[in-house]
Amino acid sequence: MTLHRLLIHDSVGIAFPPELLVDELSDLDVPVETADDDTNFSQGDGVVTFGPAEGFLAADWVHCIRAGYDEFDVDAYELAGTTLTNSSGVHGTSVGEMVAGYMLSFARRLHVFRDAQADHEWHDLPYEEPFTLDGERLCVVGLGTLGRGIAERADALGMDVVGVRQSEEPVPEVREVYQSEDLHEAIADARFVALATPLTPETEGLFDTPEFEVMREDAYLVNVARGPIVDQSTLVDALETGAVSGAALDVFEEEPLPEESPLWGREEVIVTPHAAAQTRGYHRDIATLVRTNVEQVRNGGELVNRIV
Ligand code: NAD
Repeated sequence: MTLHRLLIHDSVGIAFPPELLVDELSDLDVPVETADDDTNFSQGDGVVTFGPAEGFLAADWVHCIRAGYDEFDVDAYELAGTTLTNSSGVHGTSVGEMVAGYMLSFARRLHVFRDAQADHEWHDLPYEEPFTLDGERLCVVGLGTLGRGIAERADALGMDVVGVRQSEEPVPEVREVYQSEDLHEAIADARFVALATPLTPETEGLFDTPEFEVMREDAYLVNVARGPIVDQSTLVDALETGAVSGAALDVFEEEPLPEESPLWGREEVIVTPHAAAQTRGYHRDIATLVRTNVEQVRNGGELVNRIV
């Protein structure tokens, strides 16, 4: 591959101002320019983007600024000979802290107090309501960047961390690693279940009626991965019937979450707007990945985070 220019597609504006990335990469020995859907992409182009767009297949290389690349037609990239890379590896701290925050809120009732504060109400909790995370079991499903970031923070909070992954390779902060086929065994005793897998044909609808039946009635589901991994209407039923206690959801089947969704109105549901990975330094993390891969192109090496 030869690289003649690096184009920052305006869709990255969903995550941060594109100019920040242009500035950050301005010292590269390749012109860095902004681009939009009207740009003529061609051989010698590298494109940095939030999501897919028509025309990208004419470029040599497309870098997605997200970890999840489920919106990209991977087969079409393969066929076109266009290299696709993603941004896995940079979200462990931001998402890990977010999940720690959700769990601390459920245990220490911060969301309840904040709701009461909006009504200027001095809210006394029933004695049996608050608890501490110390010693509570967390099951992390998917032990990649997100899963490890979550596990490290939960371990630091004194939680009993177990996990589910496709390989048997141990993870330091995870006391027991279960195989994917033992998912039910892994989640059965957990007070919190955190989803951190990519959206794939195998993980779509992974959490449905049987999983909510297996989970403890006082359990909380945390989804920071992708909405369709959970069957959302089944989750609503599980919350309404008390099959599970609550959920922290950053991702949804439909985003933005429609105004009429019953999830908005439930006290034991924390809704965040696909914000778990947001941080003001995000453009720098992306610049580091892109810079590494520009150097790899120059050196004829293998691109990091290569999907196709
Ligand atoms: P990663 O590739 O580092 O890790 C994913 C892990 O999930 C891998 O270890 C993989 O083996 C495992 N996995 C895949 N299928 C599995 C299954 N059926 N059972 C158990 N484990 C399975 O990716 P990551 O950076 O950790 O991100 C994971 C996903 O989270 C992304 O694909 C993306 O969709 C989502 N994500 C969301 C946000 C957000 O803002 N909410 C931010 C980053 C990533």
